[in-house]
Amino acid sequence: MLGLTDIRSLFAATATTGRGKEVRGFHRFMLGKLELTVVTDGHILMKPVQPNFAPGIAAAKVEQVLKDNFASRSEVDLGINILLVRSADKLIMIDSGCGSNFGKDSGWLIQNLANAGIKATEITDVVISHAHPDHIGGLTDQDGKVVFPNADIYLSRIEHDFWMSPSPDFSRSKLKDEALKKLVVEVARKNILAIRPHLHLVDDGEEILDCIKMQLAAGHTPGHCIIHVFSGAERLCHIADLVHSAVLVIEHPEWGFEGDTDFDLAVKSRKTVMEALAASRTTIFSYHLPWPGIGHVRRKGEGLEWVQQPSALPYP
Ligand SMILES: [Zn+2]
Repeated sequence: MLGLTDIRSLFAATATTGRGKEVRGFHRFMLGKLELTVVTDGHILMKPVQPNFAPGIAAAKVEQVLKDNFASRSEVDLGINILLVRSADKLIMIDSGCGSNFGKDSGWLIQNLANAGIKATEITDVVISHAHPDHIGGLTDQDGKVVFPNADIYLSRIEHDFWMSPSPDFSRSKLKDEALKKLVVEVARKNILAIRPHLHLVDDGEEILDCIKMQLAAGHTPGHCIIHVFSGAERLCHIADLVHSAVLVIEHPEWGFEGDTDFDLAVKSRKTVMEALAASRTTIFSYHLPWPGIGHVRRKGEGLEWVQQPSALPYP
């Protein structure tokens, strides 16, 4: 079975030092010869549950599932889990958090990297799963200056071309909020333009940096990629924004997510990829599921369910 053998974990939780400085946690483990670290950029409280999730599905059905799973019926709390991969000669980060775009609940990345002993200048490469603001927004600060000056940036060619086109097509999305769409386009373009000298455009299935394979899983955005991290026989699949809630869209992938650019294509990609990950028993890393975002999927009746990898969080 593929998995995270040779795990050595270092946990730390939110704490307060004697000087009152906030210290938030990180999670560290090995994948073959790679050292993986998870830090948080914060969280996004998404409410109400509908229509953000399951737009058009009868409220009673959705409420029953939430109730059965002891989940909040008023909101879904999205983590923002950032994965770092240290190889022999690289320090790779996957996605960059929200930056200054969404207020004080997010944008903690730099502080939390420091808590994990990592400086922004040490990051050699940043792989961007897709160009939504909670993934690309941390590449620049509020003055538009690049935050990771020594990093090469990798982004799907399809994703780049979509956001840089004169008029990105949202006609297959269920998202109605025009102001939000405008913000999303602005943040994508601002960041892509700022990092252009360091930008590498990647094609579906391409392997990069000797330990990463990008796989197109379109729908959430046209160039949305999942990211396979591998070392020898061990692998982990970073599913980016294929799912935003375990009990809603893993158990009911067809219920969907309003923020998907192509709603139906996102459902199809979600089903295909999650079924494959269940069949192969692959370890999954999720950007938005609860900290530290690590788990598996397995069969449950006709569908699938998320099995979170338990983690203890002692104070440092
Ligand atoms: Zn996201």
